[in-house]
Amino acid sequence: MIDVEYRGMRIQIGDNDTEYLGYFQAARQHRLVMKQCTACGLMRFPPGAACPWCQSLAWRWQEVSGKGTIYSYEIVYHAIQPGFRDVTPYPVVVVELDEQKDVPNPGDGLRLVANLVDAQFRPEAEANVAIGKRVEVVFQDISEDFALPQFKLSDEPPPGPVWQFPL
Ligand SMILES: [Zn+2]
Repeated sequence: MIDVEYRGMRIQIGDNDTEYLGYFQAARQHRLVMKQCTACGLMRFPPGAACPWCQSLAWRWQEVSGKGTIYSYEIVYHAIQPGFRDVTPYPVVVVELDEQKDVPNPGDGLRLVANLVDAQFRPEAEANVAIGKRVEVVFQDISEDFALPQFKLSDEPPPGPVWQFPL
């Protein structure tokens, strides 16, 4: 059972929540994991109950590198959650991980939503955010038993063209 307060919000993940409990337990150890189907070998995110490719219910947690590319993003100017009011504007990114890109079909990939933060876990400046930039996972320790996977810009050059909303 994880029970923690984050920015004024109560986050509870029950012992029977196999979708996310293991994910956040690994995050506390600063490991990023995906559910991997043990029948066909493909990973998935979000960590749903059945494999979206072969429908098998058999799975295990598989650690991934946490490296990827910004697939899409938005800048939040109006925080709906009051706890985020003092950090607006802040970027929210969709990260496409390096693992399993274009597998099993072109356009498929492991993508997750996260905050893009700097080394002090403050929101990255909008001018630095762009589709196509390289990122890597960082783990923000919130409490003794809870850490949030976040992403920061990496030192690697972008593999292709980058694009950002006109500033
Ligand atoms: Zn499968």
